Amino acid sequence: MTDVVREALRTTADLPHYATPEAVVAELQPEYPVYCVRPHAIHRAARLFLDKFPGDTLYAVKCNPAPHMLRALYHAGIRHFDTASLAEIALVSQLFPDSVCYFMHPVKARSAIAEAHSRYGVRHHVVDHPSELQKLSEVITANRDVVILVRLAVHHTGAVYDLSSKFGTSVEGTLALLAKIESLGFSAGLCFHVGSQCLDPDAYRLAMESVAEVRARSPIALGCIDVGGGFPGRYLNDPVEGVSSYIDAVIAAARGLGELEESRLFCEPGRGLTEGGESLITQVQLRKGSALYLNDGIYGSMNEEQTGLRRPHRMVATRDFSSRRAQFTVYGPTCDSLDILPDAVELPADLREGDWIEFGAMGAYGLACRTAFNGFFPNTFVSVENEFEADASPVG
Ligand SMILES: *Cc1c(COP(=O)(O)O)cnc(C)c1O
Repeated sequence: MTDVVREALRTTADLPHYATPEAVVAELQPEYPVYCVRPHAIHRAARLFLDKFPGDTLYAVKCNPAPHMLRALYHAGIRHFDTASLAEIALVSQLFPDSVCYFMHPVKARSAIAEAHSRYGVRHHVVDHPSELQKLSEVITANRDVVILVRLAVHHTGAVYDLSSKFGTSVEGTLALLAKIESLGFSAGLCFHVGSQCLDPDAYRLAMESVAEVRARSPIALGCIDVGGGFPGRYLNDPVEGVSSYIDAVIAAARGLGELEESRLFCEPGRGLTEGGESLITQVQLRKGSALYLNDGIYGSMNEEQTGLRRPHRMVATRDFSSRRAQFTVYGPTCDSLDILPDAVELPADLREGDWIEFGAMGAYGLACRTAFNGFFPNTFVSVENEFEADASPVG
């Protein structure tokens, strides 16, 4: 049994259940951060993709690999998983023997390719360079049951995280790789990733134009077109259209190109499936004037705040707070001076030590990116049944 699986089994017992974060605080009086999982919100997000997306929805496991998240998604009907490491494949395969894993990282260890293929039955791989294709063909005996997707680089400015400088190849590079995949005896597909937290649905249409160009210039049948992740979450400073308008954009682009008849469509949402599924209760440990010291920060669940994402928040209603609001500088618990939220946070002016603040939109890249730096590791989970609703806070 691997460490990953042991950890999964340890944490898959049903979470302690509460009606609201207020009830959590009343009982636990937590001086440590507490993740509030909202299974109903995870279910709703999963059903949106499953009911609306005209193909297979692959959950991008790296976004939140916690067993409670995987189980909630599985329970809602997700059976396909975008995995990028052998540990993720082992975790998903052992939790859900009837699920399908796709090895979507364009750079893989030979041993990982071999074990994914022979032990876990993985049949989909991504490449973006001839050397990776060569590596795959040396490790796996080619046959048409193995699908190799070429990752096409797509360029645009509409995402918070642009991944095109690290991964992907040009249309020319794609054509050459497709020809080689065919001649080696594998099946072929195409994939792209518009970048995480994509702020413009038009990015998918533009990416599909590159797909169309490849299709027009290549005689090779494409078994699948994978439109990747990027479906955005709702943060304070990124007012975006709902995920469903992004799915509409993909459908319109695919239909326009006739792709829906030609190839199976895949999407790989991480953030779009999980963002609303967790919040985090933090506690104020010290107030120094307009500076607050919380028990979680950028080395914990708020890593993404460094890149500018601002999660919505509310006060846990343990007492009456002043309606007057003030701007606070918020520090995390470690001794590092980098452990500070880049933007001031607006909170009740009479905030004091011991008050609890709930941050929403924690489901994506919150627990996944936490570290144990300085001995602080948020690792307490409960489920709650209410909806998260931020305190009114102007977008600054
Ligand atoms: C991270 C990643 C995803 C998920 O991205 P989101 O922006 O969270 O939807 C999907 N596919 C690949 C290849 C990724 O690396």
